Amino acid sequence: MRKRLVAGNWKMHGNLQENSALLNALVTGIPVLGNDASCAVCVPYPYLASVQSKLQDTDIKWGAQNVSQYEKGAYTGEVSASMLNDFNCTYAIVGHSERRMLFGESSQVVAEKYVAAQQAGLVPILCVGETLEQRDSDITEQVIDEQLKAVTTLAGVNSLAKAVVAYEPVWAIGTGKTATPQQAQEIHHFIRQGIASQDAEIAAGLTVLYGGSVKASNAAELFAMADIDGGLIGGASLIADDFIAICKAIRS
Ligand code: PEP
Repeated sequence: MRKRLVAGNWKMHGNLQENSALLNALVTGIPVLGNDASCAVCVPYPYLASVQSKLQDTDIKWGAQNVSQYEKGAYTGEVSASMLNDFNCTYAIVGHSERRMLFGESSQVVAEKYVAAQQAGLVPILCVGETLEQRDSDITEQVIDEQLKAVTTLAGVNSLAKAVVAYEPVWAIGTGKTATPQQAQEIHHFIRQGIASQDAEIAAGLTVLYGGSVKASNAAELFAMADIDGGLIGGASLIADDFIAICKAIRS
């Protein structure tokens, strides 16, 4: 049985007071999801300590939204994977499209971040996805293939046994436009097949999340698709009732 996951990506939102109210609501509202399902929040670095202290005795896991590819040294402004370990993070998102597009992270750099996260014992949530222009040019599969290959070339396909992949079409992120369950399933299937061509067992066990304007109203139909194992949730993860409803939708 594949593990199912709903992970919230708070992006650059929140403050101590708002976070505290949100986390209190999540702790009370998210039921036990069972052995094969869990939920997590990926929060801005400065809040890791307070999130850790709020969530450490709960079933909700936490993580960061980025990580440096470097272990330590003169890298002003960077945060290493071992620093994230100091706050007992489970996850680190790598290769979010906002990092790739706004901060110029190449697939090679993303692959290095993925390796750095894994070497420190964190589970990378590797984001892949095409822009609208790429979809319209019919190169979606090529783009995703290139993003995945950068990682499997550097870290090996076996590394995916300890990672999560998130398919996030860039045109659906924060736009209110969600891929239809069929559109998402098609790419999730493509991702799983690509991995299966290298290792069927790894592919069968790989958790592949969908991200892009998932809401309480569309989560269940997306999560019902054969190759969709949960979601990476941006905007809706900031609204307690919505995030709780989305978490509940991975149980069914
Ligand atoms: C995201 O930031 O990963 C994301 C999917 O955002 P949203 O749910 O707001 O589209």
